[in-house]
Parts: sequence; structure tokens; C-alpha cells
Amino acid sequence: MAEPTVLELLASAARRLEVAGIEEARLKAEWAMSRVLGCRRLELPLRSREPLVPPAFRSFEAAVQRLAIGEPLQYVLGDVEFMGLVLKTDPRALIPRPETELLVETVLACRPLWDRARAPFLADVGTGTGCVVLALASRRPAARYLARDLNRPALDLARENAIRLGLALRIEWAEGDLLEGVPAASLDAVVSNAPYVPTAQWETLTRSIREFEPRTALDGGPDGLAVIRRLLPQTFTTLVTEGIVFLEIGDGQAGAVQSLMAECGFADIQARLDLSGRERVVFGAKR
Ligand code: GLN
Repeated sequence: MAEPTVLELLASAARRLEVAGIEEARLKAEWAMSRVLGCRRLELPLRSREPLVPPAFRSFEAAVQRLAIGEPLQYVLGDVEFMGLVLKTDPRALIPRPETELLVETVLACRPLWDRARAPFLADVGTGTGCVVLALASRRPAARYLARDLNRPALDLARENAIRLGLALRIEWAEGDLLEGVPAASLDAVVSNAPYVPTAQWETLTRSIREFEPRTALDGGPDGLAVIRRLLPQTFTTLVTEGIVFLEIGDGQAGAVQSLMAECGFADIQARLDLSGRERVVFGAKR
């Protein structure tokens, strides 16, 4: 029997994924196929009549099987692009989300932080894949960085990413709970995409998040702010005067987070909107 062609395999994989209730079935099948062929997804039509030889066929099958049980595309492909960097991604850490690029862009755009006489020292709290600290270190190589995570496997993944990108030496890695143990008045900025999803919303997230991504990276307790509430006072203590905190937050949380910041003593508190017009990042300064 002739080997099935790229076109035939894509059609049957998309059908299988659809039947399994997977969103964006065709798109995911195409991503998996382009990986197997080592081409760009948009080049697939040019290769549609090509037969797939057995080793490639087997890796495509394996990818489709993983997608069919709901595993996120980024875990199946094994990497994701964030701020132009290709990062390895697997179930040790949350998949970097496009909205987190706004957090990084807000830090990059903060002139008072970068105009200091000496290179600033920044901490990324809950680094996960390392996406935030690596994007910052690649754009602002003169600064010093501390990346923290409570979860050892996530920290290992972040470090692997740093090594792949040649950024490992710029970053100090530490396993630990938020900023516990970090000396007072030692940091110029604290950046964090801490978990902020309210526990009750957990059940409403798609299956591929609930069953495959680490819950500890997302679940922020009853109102979603349990971690941020603990992080803010520690942040205030560890920042130098004129230090700045930057937080990613969820839909509708800006008011509450701004009040928490003000209670801790932060000033000049502002929010930035994401592309869908939602307040997504809040920041403030220690005066
Ligand atoms: N943006 C993520 C999501 O909604 C949440 C990230 C977080 O809790 N820090 O899936």
C-alpha cells in the first residue's frame, strides 16, 4: 500500500482531533506536521502530495495522539516563542502566554529604572520557564537578575532555557518562597507573573490547562490574590528607595491590587491595558 500523503494525514488527524473535542484541530495538526517535516506551517500546501516515510509518520502519529488527549500544543512541540526568544516548554512550568509580553514591555519601557547611574538589579518572582527574566536579560544585558521559583523542576527548566540562549551567567537562580530570605533594600525592581486565577475559576479553564499545566502556577486562592497579597509586603522590604514593582494581574483585579499596593506604601501606582483593553499589568514605586 502506498504511504499516505501529507494532505491525507493532515485531513485524518484534524478529523480525529475534532472528534476528540480539541479546539483548533486543523491548526494543531498542521503545526505538528510542519515540525515533523522541518518546514514552516505555511509551506505545507507545497508539500501536500509528499508521502510521509515511516519514521516521520510515527512521530506525527505520536504528536497527534498527545494532542488528542488534550495536551497543549506547546508541550507537544516542546517550545514556544516569547518576545522573539524560542523557549523550551514542558509540564514543569506554565506555558508562556502572549499577555505576559506586556509585563516585559512595561519593564523595558520604564525609563527611571534603566536611567540609573549603576546597572539595576531585578528579581523575577515565580520565574517558571524563565520567560520574563530571559526576555529582560536579552534586551538589557547590563543589568543583574535574580530568578526565583518555589518549584525546583521549573527552575531547572528556566536554567536550561538560559543556557540555550547563552544568558545563564547573567542570572542568579534561587529556589524559594517568593522573596523570603532576600536582603532588605537590595533590589531595584521586582517583576512577577504570580498565580492569580481565583480557585472557583479553575474549573472553568479549558481541559488542556487543568489537566496538563501546573496548578500552582495559576491558582491564586479564593480571590486570586493570595500570592500577590503575600508578595507585596516582601517586595516593599526588599526594594531600594525608588525601587519599582511590576505585576501581571487578571481581569477585574486592578482596583484590588492597586489598593493592596497602596496599603503597603507604594506610590505612583499605574495600570497598563492589554490588546483586548483589559488592565493586565500594574506597577508602582517605593518612594
Ligand atoms: N494568564 C494566565 C491564564 O489565564 C494566568 C497566569 C497567572 O495566573 N499568572 O491562563
